[in-house]
Amino acid sequence: MSIQLFIPKFHVDECLDGIKECLEKGWTGLGFKTLEIEKDWCNYTHFNHAHFINSATSGLHLALEVYKRENNWQHDDEVITTSLTFISTNHAILYAGLTPVFADINNTLCLDPSSVLSCITEKTKALIFVGIGGNMGQYEDIRKICSQKGIIFILDAAHMAGSKHMDKQIGTDADVSVFSFQAVKNLPTADAGMICFKSKEHDEYVRKLTWLGINKDTYARTVSQGSYKWMYDVEELGYKYHGNSIMAAIAIVQLKYLDQENSYRRSISTHYRERLQDLDWLEFINITNINETSNHLFQIRCQDRDALMTYLNNNDVFPGVHYRDNKLYKMYSSFKGDCPNSLKASSEIISLPVHQNLSLNDVEAVCILLNNYKQK
Ligand SMILES: *Cc1c(COP(=O)(O)O)cnc(C)c1O
Repeated sequence: MSIQLFIPKFHVDECLDGIKECLEKGWTGLGFKTLEIEKDWCNYTHFNHAHFINSATSGLHLALEVYKRENNWQHDDEVITTSLTFISTNHAILYAGLTPVFADINNTLCLDPSSVLSCITEKTKALIFVGIGGNMGQYEDIRKICSQKGIIFILDAAHMAGSKHMDKQIGTDADVSVFSFQAVKNLPTADAGMICFKSKEHDEYVRKLTWLGINKDTYARTVSQGSYKWMYDVEELGYKYHGNSIMAAIAIVQLKYLDQENSYRRSISTHYRERLQDLDWLEFINITNINETSNHLFQIRCQDRDALMTYLNNNDVFPGVHYRDNKLYKMYSSFKGDCPNSLKASSEIISLPVHQNLSLNDVEAVCILLNNYKQK
């Protein structure tokens, strides 16, 4: 039997119960379960505000769009970002009509503070930090740099549902954090996400932007029974980015198991670390300063990554690569910023299988293959 990188686990009966409730009530859209998951998420994470959306890609776009509109940022205003990420992170900057500037990473695979400092210009308005694999890297240092320099700090927390430091969800001190509940993330639905602003005003604003710019407040405040529902105002160009109750019904159930499942991911990772520590041809990623990572990924690096990938594939093990340096993609090749560490990592990293349906025997089978690799 083959061993895959990610297979999401759904608590099927409970999810179906929640979906059935939506169908029976005749309410599958915005409201109902979307409000319930927002409340559950705030309770779980201690964010003060959370808005349920259709994806983290939309959320990252919105995070930038909210601050851009508020502060009248211009096309040549800059957003510092990483090139070792899923393409959504950087597309979001272009969706918002802003200019990405690439800073380099360090051995945590997250942004390097000294490289960030060297990228700051008078045009720098925001920075996106990606907590890759659930890792925190030098989050604190970079958040402090941003707050000292008046730069908006955005956390791409697509891998960080349940990643905690000092028993607290990471991201609550960011200006805005964006989570993904996409099909193969560690809190899987089919497609959904959460955007969590620090300030109430931004949270209110983003709710308007996720529903086409419609301002429901105009009459909702004065008319109780829902007559005049059509008498809303549209004040600016918004998007169709809000989440729906079917996705929320799944997320509500999946969230209940998040801590338990992240903990299982950590035991997989511990097993890998114990069994691979003597292999001098591979390196672990430096996981800094964190007491409870979501462990969305377990990454290692080695010089002959592509050969190792072929060897594992030939033995029915299918790891992944997170990610290819985005500057290798044609449309990003000419943006500012040299990232030698990212480029090197991009050719060396490999993500070993981590998911709930993987038994520790499966993990051991992968470890045996890796232990035999250079002996072949
Ligand atoms: C998956 C992912 C996203 C996008 O999430 P979606 O919910 O699929 O839009 C953004 N950033 C990173 C780092 C991701 O891995």
